[in-house]
Amino acid sequence: MKVSDIYRKGERSLSFEIFPPKKDDELRNIDDTLDVLCELKPDFISVTFGAGGSCNCNKTIELARKIKDKYKVEPVVHLTCLHYSRREIDEFARVLKDAGIENILALRGDMRDDIPRKEDFTYASDLVSYLKENHDFCILGACYPERHPESDNNVDEIRHLKTKVNSGTEVVLSQLFFDNSLFYDFEEKCRIADIDVPIIPGIMPVVKAAQIKRMISMCNASFPEKFQKIVDRYENNKEALFDAGMAYALSQIIDLLVSDTDGIHLYTMNNPQIARRICEGIRNIV
Ligand code: FAD
Repeated sequence: MKVSDIYRKGERSLSFEIFPPKKDDELRNIDDTLDVLCELKPDFISVTFGAGGSCNCNKTIELARKIKDKYKVEPVVHLTCLHYSRREIDEFARVLKDAGIENILALRGDMRDDIPRKEDFTYASDLVSYLKENHDFCILGACYPERHPESDNNVDEIRHLKTKVNSGTEVVLSQLFFDNSLFYDFEEKCRIADIDVPIIPGIMPVVKAAQIKRMISMCNASFPEKFQKIVDRYENNKEALFDAGMAYALSQIIDLLVSDTDGIHLYTMNNPQIARRICEGIRNIV
């Protein structure tokens, strides 16, 4: 199933993001995580992608294949382009097609000093155009309610997103954020700019003190005072921080749902308890 069909039917989505574990034995154990995640019946599960390898040894594809074949849940494969040639992207597309995978989250990827860049793609929109012209996938893209860290201003940010959508992106998934008002502002700017595709907010329940500082610096996310108070109070109490972080994420999600957003994308960090707690919290909310 193509993910865009969900929204065409007028429904909204619940989706999870997972990453392929680095070690092979952890990859084998991911079944315990998938058992729980898939029982919660998400509309799709997206699998992150680490640039650099070839598609023959790609754990993202291995995991996506498992989600589709064993668990019968729709996978979305993240695919970055900065470090690949057109020929290599064609090879990824061929392997994905053979595996019956229909959805790609098309990304530029981060600039990295340790992997040489290739010349064929500069921005995610180049990858989107290429995939649309040469292959048959539903294409999702990334968006940033608080701007991408390399962007200087909101106007260019929205213009670039519009280019990405005009190139064929059918759904956009957002970077995580902790302040819903920033997401609503961003969504409004997109609609004013005639960006009419579903914009799915990405929520990451922050349940560990170490994770908080890393998230803020990596993702450019601002940190509301009310969440800072939770962290200050509970950073040395693991269980209390878990509960308070979950409650905060749940309140964000309920607010987004009653504000009629197109769906919820949950960054699970491969922790099934997070997904389970969130799903229990919204079980009766339509
Ligand atoms: P782009 O859309 O190309 O944007 C990158 C920058 O270029 C932005 O500042 C944009 O404004 C600017 N830009 C775009 N078009 C133009 C143009 N025509 N002219 C000038 N400037 C332009 N990374 C991974 O490595 N693996 C993953 O699995 C992964 N998953 C992600 C999932 C989500 C939901 C999100 C939000 C991000 C994810 N990332 C992942 C991170 C992403 O790769 C980085 O944020 C990367 O730096 C930008 O990728 P992009 O696709 O958003 O790039």
